[in-house]
Amino acid sequence: MIDRMYCQDQLLRFSGLPGYPKTEEGRRSLLDAMQGAFVLAGREKLRRWVEDSLRSRDRCPLPRDAYGAGRDATPARLAAEIRCFVCYDTGKTSAEFLVTTRMGRRTAARLTSDQAKELWRKHREAQARGDRQGTFGIDRQMIYEYPVPCDCQPTQARLPEPPPERERCV
Ligand SMILES: [Zn+2]
Repeated sequence: MIDRMYCQDQLLRFSGLPGYPKTEEGRRSLLDAMQGAFVLAGREKLRRWVEDSLRSRDRCPLPRDAYGAGRDATPARLAAEIRCFVCYDTGKTSAEFLVTTRMGRRTAARLTSDQAKELWRKHREAQARGDRQGTFGIDRQMIYEYPVPCDCQPTQARLPEPPPERERCV
């Protein structure tokens, strides 16, 4: 399992290159590709691909480059045995939560990826209108990403969700 935060840090290393995605959707696509494609190959292979790319490319890689590189770096035997393509049999994945703080109490609601995309879109629109807080400012809301057990795991194996550690930064 390569966690999202690690992938975000790696993604940011491309941020000075031409072709780095300018939109939230574009960065998310590349991030998804890096996280998904290298999940079996591992962090070290991902880091090496990022470094090779920085050395050999003039532009930010595309999602298809990440998928291709991840596939090439994955041992064929492992790839053939995958049963769950959400968590790649690690049992762990991540989900976005809308965290609301009201009167000092914090509640978290799990979002589908479509709901999260929609909120980010509204947030950008609010910022474009000059509302510096964006939509998250109104109710002191923010989107966090938490690790969660994958749906392929038996219910009893699913652990309680830990508190948020860090705001997501994509
Ligand atoms: Zn799974």
